[in-house]
Amino acid sequence: MSDNIRTVKNATCTFCGCVCDDMELTVDMDEKKITKAKNACILGRAWFAEHSIENHPAAMIDGKEVSVNIAIEEAAQILIKAKFPITYGLSDTTCEAQRQAVAISDIIHGNVDTTTSVCHGPSGLAFQGVGESTMTLGEVKNRADLVIYWGGNPAESHPRHFTRYAVTPKGMYIPNGKKDRTVVLVDVRKTPSTPVADIFLQVKPGKDFELLWALRALVKGRNIDPNIEVITGISLETMTDLVNKMKNCRYGVLFFGMGLTMTRGRHFNSGALLALATDLNEFTHFVAKPVRGHGNVTGADNVVSWQTGYPFGVNFSRGYPRFNPGEFTTVDTLSRGEADAALIVASDPASNFPRAAIEHLHKIPVITLDAKQTETTQLAHVAFTTATYGINTGGTVYRMDDVPITLRPAFESPFPTDEEILIAIKKRVHELVLAKRGATGARSEAKVASQL
Ligand code: SF4
Repeated sequence: MSDNIRTVKNATCTFCGCVCDDMELTVDMDEKKITKAKNACILGRAWFAEHSIENHPAAMIDGKEVSVNIAIEEAAQILIKAKFPITYGLSDTTCEAQRQAVAISDIIHGNVDTTTSVCHGPSGLAFQGVGESTMTLGEVKNRADLVIYWGGNPAESHPRHFTRYAVTPKGMYIPNGKKDRTVVLVDVRKTPSTPVADIFLQVKPGKDFELLWALRALVKGRNIDPNIEVITGISLETMTDLVNKMKNCRYGVLFFGMGLTMTRGRHFNSGALLALATDLNEFTHFVAKPVRGHGNVTGADNVVSWQTGYPFGVNFSRGYPRFNPGEFTTVDTLSRGEADAALIVASDPASNFPRAAIEHLHKIPVITLDAKQTETTQLAHVAFTTATYGINTGGTVYRMDDVPITLRPAFESPFPTDEEILIAIKKRVHELVLAKRGATGARSEAKVASQL
């Protein structure tokens, strides 16, 4: 280790949706390496330790190094010529970059979608259907005496969710931490999170909706057939006990994960859980919140929502935003072979999308912005290497409870930020659109300018 050491206090880990902002980073400024990440969990430590400045071109076309300006020109030409250009990803970059990506989609009358469509998209639909009784994680820490996790395994996916926010921390009205809380876990199998729970309910796979609906009925004082156990795997006695605990707690919270949103029932499951939280507010204070995965997927939801009115799966082909999951979500636009160009920002769909979608990605010009090399950057026609958000760039991210947090970068990167590249593409796309629509006069120019 060199003598050129810098300490960054209150830095933020952007590896998962907990977005812990109490990191103390020790940075070897000569080696450009983070040698220690105090307060980070095992995932956060790996995130910081594995970060290094890659010896890689900042821009490539078909695998050959080019200047960033040439790559921007090529990207803009592709997007402007496409009939159905799509933008996808966005959950691992800053809000400042996200807003530029939405603006580009708007200008080129394209499609914009985020990784929400393959994780908590059903929750996004459910929010619109039944609303959301919400909170911040600070409130949970200070007030929640009944904490229920449904369809998730935070011990492995969000290791500090228990220790920093919801289970063990002492709060203003929870002076003894875990001793003052009852923790319930609902899942289809035991996981490393199970030992944390005071009560574990093993629901039958695919029967979350039935269990949630039965709990709603009990909350409302309805009679339930004891045979509900045959359907859900949970006895009526256990359900009744849980409902009593829910009605009689001072502050209850339902956290839910993809074990609920991506199994049979999907948005009906999320809607049933949100409705249960709302029902319980007749008796006590009860809230619900999805446990989000990517570091700024919540920011993506917020930015796309405040710019278009919808959280994901938005299409601008008619000149105004339309929302239709299943039609304008990226798995679908690719699998049906509709998209004819793709701008992928900080995401790797080629490694986890269905085969038909990946095969189509191989057939169309793809533009990528990513800090690391991935299967998607490998197939890209135009690939930009960008700085890592949170470690090399400042900006804003949203924690999973919709609290915006300002990033404190550890050291500079030689690569441009996602925001810088997207601003340059937007500027060039704007010029090309004006040139293309020039014949229609000044009115169209004013319209495009108003979209920036
Ligand atoms: S819980 Fe998530 S945000 Fe917090 S340190 Fe671990 S990986 Fe980073």
